[in-house]
Amino acid sequence: MNSFQYGKPTSLEQVTSFLARENANVFVMAGGTDLLGEIKEGLIEPDLVIDLKAVPGLAYIKKEKDAVAIGALTAVADLAEDPMIRQDYRVLVEAAKVIASPQLRNMGTVGGNLCQRPRCWYYRDARVVCSKKGGSKCYAEKGRNKYHAIFAGGICYAVYPSDLAPAFIALEAIAVIASPQGERTIPLAEFYAPPIVNVRKENVLGKQEVVKEIRIPLAKKNEKSTYQKFIERGSWDFAVVSAAVKAALSGATIEDIRIVCGGVAPIPWRLKKVEAALKGKKATESEARKAAKIALAEAAPLAENGYKIELLETMIARAVVALGK
Ligand SMILES: Cc1cc2nc3c(=O)[nH]c(=O)nc-3n(C[C@H](O)[C@H](O)[C@H](O)COP(=O)(O)OP(=O)(O)OC[C@H]3O[C@@H](n4cnc5c(N)ncnc54)[C@H](O)[C@@H]3O)c2cc1C
Repeated sequence: MNSFQYGKPTSLEQVTSFLARENANVFVMAGGTDLLGEIKEGLIEPDLVIDLKAVPGLAYIKKEKDAVAIGALTAVADLAEDPMIRQDYRVLVEAAKVIASPQLRNMGTVGGNLCQRPRCWYYRDARVVCSKKGGSKCYAEKGRNKYHAIFAGGICYAVYPSDLAPAFIALEAIAVIASPQGERTIPLAEFYAPPIVNVRKENVLGKQEVVKEIRIPLAKKNEKSTYQKFIERGSWDFAVVSAAVKAALSGATIEDIRIVCGGVAPIPWRLKKVEAALKGKKATESEARKAAKIALAEAAPLAENGYKIELLETMIARAVVALGK
């Protein structure tokens, strides 16, 4: 591990001015639960690490006139325990509660979870120079690919590992991004970019930008949401496949629905055709499975991950049925 400088800014302005340093590898650190692993594994070699936790006032959950605002430094555990989130946004609570272990949920932050790097075993092996690290190919394509993407692979088949990302996108969240030029907002659905845009990054953050806040629209009375996650081990684990669903219901009939999946693509994967097929239908297992098959027809599994197709259908079906509970 190379030595690096450690920056303790006291304001967001200082953070973004640190990021503006030229000819330096500068990284922001929130809880450090992913970033420090990347440094120790030799995947990144920072010249400077900026500690976001030193900046006061970035951890909060506030109900405002038109949205709920969640500070980027809010701990994942605090999100799961917040009374207002628990009342109105079941999908967030269910997603946050199945992230890692209690210790990691206390240290890990919302912003860090949304900006964490993929867990692909080729990417995480410093000796392998895969496409994500500037190499010429994705070793998963013809190698060991049990946990890899069934949609939108090609240049890179690593799946995006965050549980909060599908949940927030299902809720139509917006990211507030700070830079030396001020603030901009972007739907979280557009925050992630597939490998064809830039294989070395999973999001559209510029070099001098940080996530400051996530905003979610106020929940409507007829809306329900849920998160279903399949893991291989009995204790904590990353999602093999997950489905975050938000729906507006009239009785048992689905008026509107958003379905965003994890573990199946290099970015959180929205299933718009399945959503369209479910509108006007009853929220039942058979309708959900019928609609899910539309998405599955478009999947392009690799040698070892064809099982994800059936699993995805099951996660969608479980989520749709859970809406009624
Ligand atoms: C053993 C283990 C199990 C895990 N299991 C799960 C799981 O089941 N589900 C899941 O979703 N996650 C899981 N994780 C990932 C974990 O949730 C993340 O490590 C954590 O959420 C990252 O948050 P952090 O605050 O520690 O981020 P950091 O480690 O500090 O940062 C992570 C990345 O995000 C960047 N970053 C952080 N904050 C910001 C910001 N505000 N703006 C821009 N960039 C930022 C950093 O530069 C870094 O690249 C697991 C991690 C471990 C180590």
